[in-house]
Amino acid sequence: MHAIPPLRLAGLEPLVLGAPGAARAGFIPVGERTNVTGSRAFAKMILAGDFERAVSVARQQVEAGAQIIDINMDEAMLDGEAAMVRFLHLIAGEPDIARVPFMLDSSRWEVIEAGLRCVQGKAIVNSISLKDGADTFRQRARLLCRYGAAAVVMAFDEQGQADTYARKIAICERAYRILVNEVGFPAEDIVFDPNIFAIATGIEEHNHYAVDFIEATRWIKTHLPGAKVSGGVSNVSFSFRGNDPVREAIHTVFLYHAIAAGMDMGIVNAGMVGVYDDLDPLLRERVEDVVLDRRPDAADRLLEIAEQARGAARDETQRLAWRGTPEAPVPVAQRLGHAMVHGIDEYIVADTEEAYREVVAQGGRALAVIEGPLMAGMAIVGDLFGQGKMFLPQVVKSARVMKRAVAHLVGYIEAERREDEAAGRTVTARGKMIIATVKGDVHDIGKNIVAVVLQCNNYEVIDLGVMVPGHKILERAKAEGADIVGLSGLITPSLEEMQSVAAEMQADAYFRDRQIPLLIGGATTSRVHTAVKIAPRYEGPVVYVPDASRSVGVVQGLLSGDTAAYRAALRADYDKVRTLHAQKKPPTLWPLERARANRWMPTGNDGQPGWKGYRSVVPKFLGKRAFHHIDLGTLVGYIDWKPFFQVWDLAGSFPSILDDPTVGEQARKVYADAQAMLRRIVEGRWITANAVIGFYPANAVGDDIVLYTDSSRNHVALTWYGLRQQIAREEIDGALPPNRCLSDFVLPADAGDVDYVGVFSVTTGIGVEERAAQFVANHDDYSAILLKTLADRLAEALAEQMHHRVRTDLWGYAPGEALSIDDLIAEKYQGIRPAPGYPACPDHTVKQDVFALLDCAQAGMHLTENHAIWPPASVSGFYLSHPESRYFAVGKIGEDQIQDQAARRGVDIAALRKILVS
Ligand code: SAH
Repeated sequence: MHAIPPLRLAGLEPLVLGAPGAARAGFIPVGERTNVTGSRAFAKMILAGDFERAVSVARQQVEAGAQIIDINMDEAMLDGEAAMVRFLHLIAGEPDIARVPFMLDSSRWEVIEAGLRCVQGKAIVNSISLKDGADTFRQRARLLCRYGAAAVVMAFDEQGQADTYARKIAICERAYRILVNEVGFPAEDIVFDPNIFAIATGIEEHNHYAVDFIEATRWIKTHLPGAKVSGGVSNVSFSFRGNDPVREAIHTVFLYHAIAAGMDMGIVNAGMVGVYDDLDPLLRERVEDVVLDRRPDAADRLLEIAEQARGAARDETQRLAWRGTPEAPVPVAQRLGHAMVHGIDEYIVADTEEAYREVVAQGGRALAVIEGPLMAGMAIVGDLFGQGKMFLPQVVKSARVMKRAVAHLVGYIEAERREDEAAGRTVTARGKMIIATVKGDVHDIGKNIVAVVLQCNNYEVIDLGVMVPGHKILERAKAEGADIVGLSGLITPSLEEMQSVAAEMQADAYFRDRQIPLLIGGATTSRVHTAVKIAPRYEGPVVYVPDASRSVGVVQGLLSGDTAAYRAALRADYDKVRTLHAQKKPPTLWPLERARANRWMPTGNDGQPGWKGYRSVVPKFLGKRAFHHIDLGTLVGYIDWKPFFQVWDLAGSFPSILDDPTVGEQARKVYADAQAMLRRIVEGRWITANAVIGFYPANAVGDDIVLYTDSSRNHVALTWYGLRQQIAREEIDGALPPNRCLSDFVLPADAGDVDYVGVFSVTTGIGVEERAAQFVANHDDYSAILLKTLADRLAEALAEQMHHRVRTDLWGYAPGEALSIDDLIAEKYQGIRPAPGYPACPDHTVKQDVFALLDCAQAGMHLTENHAIWPPASVSGFYLSHPESRYFAVGKIGEDQIQDQAARRGVDIAALRKILVS
């Protein structure tokens, strides 16, 4: 048999269904509103002769996504032929409507023929059937061939409409044979309508109607080659008229199954079909019971929740109540305020435009919109946040609304600028701040949040980005006439950078004279550090800002009101912190040799402290191995969510935070946003995830861990210089706690045997900056920050996943490990992965050697001059396998250890002190 061509319909543009080789053509919605029998409103227009409005209904249908429009003029009071012709003539002159094919719908053949005579393109007729016998059917089909139209063929014969599966398929088969074999009607131009009848009517025989339609569809599509299936969808839910939410759910579920069975098109109200997956699960289940006739009490059970479903939909109307109704809209200023406070950006551009037009109509200018309603909205957001009534994610979303509104006005404002300049008018921000992540540091999530929060409070913030040298920051601060300088940093070397920026400000009369405040923030910064190490270097105010919510109060205090009093109080406070710190007795340190003598030791199999009987496990491979383009989908399950909420200033453990009475609602929202974005990250391959790991023969040599290039141990691949705790120990429960050093967990070289150590660097940061920049360019800082937090989460997740693979497979020292994700996050596994920069190994510089050894550049990772990893969402460290290895903090070390280290490393003490003591 030759292949059947696709069904080709056409308005001004072609519409092709079922092209061979094409992916599923997809379901074609046929607009139903231009039908006097289906739409009372449309009938009224036609009867009143208001064809202009009737045309606009057709346009709305096409705009709403109808790919064909059904036109029906079957109204007793109407001259159907004349109305059909007049309407077709009118819409033929509207290219945005006439581009789609028309479905000429009438139960009267004369009306159809009248339409066929004037329609352009290739139309589809609705309908012909065997109702008046085979002769009439044949005759009309032949005429349709001559007019070049496709046909909807109803499952209707001399006995009436087909209501059961058996009658539906029997009639369709008979009609098909007549059309194809006797008339020579093109099989591809046949569209069967096997009748959609109302279900859940209370009459038992009706319960199976939907299933019958769906099954008949399946049969037609498999047994009648080329034929298509259509139907009038709204019928199915007729018994629920008055309850649109339930009707919509029924249409949605019905179409879901019918389309799966092969339904090609349907006459529907596009606004009355939802997304199957988005339906409330309970409603979906009960609707599905009804549609698929799965239980005798299905209709009753749907009725039980029908009112509730309607109520939920009313909530939806209520959700938009803040906008008012088309007849009685809420004033636009009020709408703008509402959108800002609630972070709703859906209507912000339209509303801003409306506000602008109002202002212009009254002789005002675009700036008035910013200075008026937008500022007022921001003020409310600022107040609520200050009172702890709004949470960080909400504020960042409000800022997004503000930015989008302002972005919309920028064009107008530019045009007004000259006028403004002549008049000496500008929008006056409450103050200007320069903010930057310091040289050598790449972390900017906290900084970005502070910037957004301050902007939201009407401060102008100039964000210089990451890795910004001190002189650049200060240069720009001068050029901009900034009122405040803000520094951010995450890694310990950044503390040193901040101290030097403070010193630079002191050296520059510009900052001294103006007493420009310096704000300090970031994960490793603290009030004590700021007071003790940074403030003494600059005579102007130096303030530690623990989080974004606190930044507003600090900036306000520094710049407005009685600033002298605020600054004096601040100074007094920091003086006190310094005094208290100076009074704190430093911990007693043991000489290095004594600390070494009190090292941690395993217990040998002879029961004595020592390594007797220790057997190292040989990794499956030695040397490095790279893993590029790791499937992001496999990482999601390894995510530790708790730190995610911390970024958003939402405290609590996961998942209980989602039910927290105070922050639960906001936690759920930001979590839902995160899930949605994660899906986009994974499916859209937004991020490239790479990892490099290596295993090396290794031994402890004194306090250091030496990695060898190969098992001969003749060549050193890398020496990881260890720091040992020196704080004096006191007996606890009759035992002296050890003075630890990470090398204690590795077999000493003098034991003779070889041990192994692993090294790793992983990143999920490649591609993140570009995408975040796109969001920012689109005035969507919320999404930019969300993306970066998720990238950080994925980096930790990749470290977790890789460590898991290492333990169970690649190194394989714990092949039988069976731990849940919670167990992994709780570090219940054997071994640790200490990361340089953390308390057991605070020195970052070893990453230089790690990166060279693993050739991390190959995997897209690089180090800054202060050994932060670029891109930011990256993690690097070592794998130690000893069953008793654990994390600890080195703490304060003595001068003797610094000297000893300097000698071991062959560097001068000053340089080393800079690295080790911050
Ligand atoms: N589940 C957390 C894990 C990251 S923090 C998250 O997703 O954010 C824990 C990591 O920090 C450890 O795996 C280790 O690499 C490092 N770390 C923690 N404490 C340490 C210490 N005292 N010394 C060295 N590294 C440490």
